[in-house]
Amino acid sequence: HLPVIALVGRPNVGKSTLFNRFTGTRDALVADFAGLTRDRQYGFGKFEGRSFMVVDTGGLMPSSGDPLAGLAESQARIAIEEADCVLFLVDIRAGLNPSDREIAGYLRKLGKPVCLLANKAEGLPRSAVGEFYELGLDTPMPVSAVHGDGIQDLLRQILPAA
Ligand code: GDP
Ligand code: MG
Repeated sequence: HLPVIALVGRPNVGKSTLFNRFTGTRDALVADFAGLTRDRQYGFGKFEGRSFMVVDTGGLMPSSGDPLAGLAESQARIAIEEADCVLFLVDIRAGLNPSDREIAGYLRKLGKPVCLLANKAEGLPRSAVGEFYELGLDTPMPVSAVHGDGIQDLLRQILPAA
């Protein structure tokens, strides 16, 4: 089957923006307020001749404020289970957030490849990713979903060679 990439992270980190960049569409709704994407949203992407599926999730932070509440039943968990690779987005401008820590704890237990993306990194020095090492995941990669910085390198790294 096509490789499936799941986008996870608390609301407003840029998951839907990245989904739109991967798919070349504007299918995912992007907004400045939290929790807009309520269901799994699937899209198809192609990069350097390699095809992949991407899943946008919005389910890791129910309105209760607890990102893991209800995760057992959530669409996000299903998406994560189906995925070959999980892209965990954090917001480098907002900085490390308690929700990021909770999500990281969940992802660390999964035993799946997880890439930690420090999004909104356009114009910032690479050293700005430093605080995200604390999450105990992979080396944080600075990216910009809006401007495209770091996205080609990322896809080269995560998509299996054609
Ligand atoms: P989601 O809730 O995780 O799906 O986040 P969205 O994709 O809806 O984006 C939330 C907000 O962050 C929107 O205002 C986006 O325009 C903004 N955003 C997303 N990616 C970037 C980025 O790379 N740089 C900057 N500066 N803003 C971004
Ligand atoms: Mg969204």
